[in-house]
Amino acid sequence: MAHPENPAPNAEAPRPSNFVRDIVLADIASGKHAGRVQTRFPPEPNGYLHIGHAKSICLNFGLAIEFNGKCNLRFDDTNPCKEESEYVESIIEDVRWLGFTPDAVYYASDYFQQLYDWAVQLIQAGKAYVCDLTSEEVRQHRGTLTEPGKESPWRNRSIEENLDLFTRMKAGEFPDGTRTLRSKIDMASPNLNMRDPVMYRILHASHHRTGDAWCIYPMYDFTHGQSDSIEQITHSICTLEFEDHRPLYDWYIRELGIFPPQQIEFDRLNLTYTLLSKRRLLALVQQGVVSGWDDPRMPTISGIRRRGYTPEAIRTFCSRIGVSKTNGIIELGLLEHAVREDLNRRAHRAMAVLKPLKLVIDNYPEDQTEMMEAVNNPEDASYGSREVPFSRVLYIEQDDFREEPPKGYFRLYPGNEVRLRYGYLVRCTGVAKNDAGEVVEVHCTYDPATKGGNTPDGRKVKSTIHWVSAAHAVEAEVRLYDTLFQVENPNEAPEGGDWMDNLNPSSLVTVPDAKLEPSLAAAAPGGLYQFERLGYFCVDKDSTPGRPVFNRTVGLRDTWAKIEKSQKAGKGKS
Ligand code: ATP
Ligand code: MG
Repeated sequence: MAHPENPAPNAEAPRPSNFVRDIVLADIASGKHAGRVQTRFPPEPNGYLHIGHAKSICLNFGLAIEFNGKCNLRFDDTNPCKEESEYVESIIEDVRWLGFTPDAVYYASDYFQQLYDWAVQLIQAGKAYVCDLTSEEVRQHRGTLTEPGKESPWRNRSIEENLDLFTRMKAGEFPDGTRTLRSKIDMASPNLNMRDPVMYRILHASHHRTGDAWCIYPMYDFTHGQSDSIEQITHSICTLEFEDHRPLYDWYIRELGIFPPQQIEFDRLNLTYTLLSKRRLLALVQQGVVSGWDDPRMPTISGIRRRGYTPEAIRTFCSRIGVSKTNGIIELGLLEHAVREDLNRRAHRAMAVLKPLKLVIDNYPEDQTEMMEAVNNPEDASYGSREVPFSRVLYIEQDDFREEPPKGYFRLYPGNEVRLRYGYLVRCTGVAKNDAGEVVEVHCTYDPATKGGNTPDGRKVKSTIHWVSAAHAVEAEVRLYDTLFQVENPNEAPEGGDWMDNLNPSSLVTVPDAKLEPSLAAAAPGGLYQFERLGYFCVDKDSTPGRPVFNRTVGLRDTWAKIEKSQKAGKGKS
């Protein structure tokens, strides 16, 4: 079920709730930080960004833009084992592609020396100690939500001994995992994060930016708030799972006596049929379930970009969903609705036949070709028109012909007349079959008085179908995508199974021999099209000269509009 606070998916709807914006507005009004607004988007470079990150990006950059403030891009790169420059580069590209320019790009690793100095400061103040417990022992000492923790036997080391040991940790004297630096807070705190949390661990690993300069690395909690503080962040916006970390965030800032940013938590984006966890997305890439991080079925920014989504559609979606204080799940249909709306405005129309069936116009001259004028975008006259060749043998969709029409079928069948879009009216006269009895050609005659699809005598036809001239067709590969998972919540593994069991076996269907109108031969990668009556498609980077590859971005059928309509009619959602 959709989150109850979901805004109605319509552009005229009132601005969705954004309580973070309300906090910022109140701070500006009260003169806090002299009205200055400074935010940041802080990804860990351990994977590619996904649509959930887009929500955070739009929120952070959106506030800076609205209130004439600044927004940094900061890499939270404190975990050398999982981070790579490839991820850093993709993140920079994705933020830019979404339409945002960071005021500065920083790395938490740039602050390693300052963080180290601050750790020393806390040791000197008697607020941190070197602990010799193993990570397993630290866990055992931590206690539970109902029981207090036990103090480490190393908790009361002298300041001198702590300083000496911490210096030697940094100098590389001790193996991985043998010691940690912990803050001395309260082993009986009801908040487990406050029970002497680890600040530094020993890790002899090369970092993608600092190389082998360090063999001790700060923990997220000891890094994040101070990095915010160094950058004079006014509003440190993060997702709800960090709510329990806020007391620790504030503790470090207070004990160090440095600039105090305000941490504000909002709900993570969850989308039906979609997995938003870098760890699991990485598993899909590593196990070859998808072709890479930019596989068009991936919910990554690079995947949905390759799929043909536009930054405008994603930004519209993010502003419509708003932000709240409780986690919910948003209908995928809402995202698809946003992209359809945008592509309807900007996509170039074209004709393409995915499941070709030959249509022969018996009374059309054998060697004649006429150029038919076709509108490029009925939503925008500035797109102009193009000419599409028409000739005696055409391809139409197999679905647009039935030898024996079911009730209510108005397309082509023996004796029936239909309009060929931008072409002529044709009447079906018969079929040719192969030895197996399958229809291989449909025969028809055309009415020369109906050029352009007009009916001078005012006679009506109930159906208009698309077509491509066989002699002029460009062959293409077309990739039809469905959701990568076949269950609404792919995070929940089926009983006795694994989350990967939720994969949709038909998430990709490849059409090897689609027939396209010739204007598409020159379509450049990234080009956005509507194949009339079929959906929105874009040119994939796998295209080669003479053989384009198209991705289906989204079909024309607007599930969301239907749901909305039935909701408005008071029928509720099926
Ligand atoms: P993942 O679990 O996918 O790795 P993460 O939270 O560990 O996500 P980070 O790189 O730490 O990823 O995230 C950078 C920022 O984006 C953080 O502020 C985080 O809260 C936010 N973010 C991540 N996922 C989402 C989401 N699904 N919805 C909204 N914001 C998100
Ligand atoms: Mg993370």
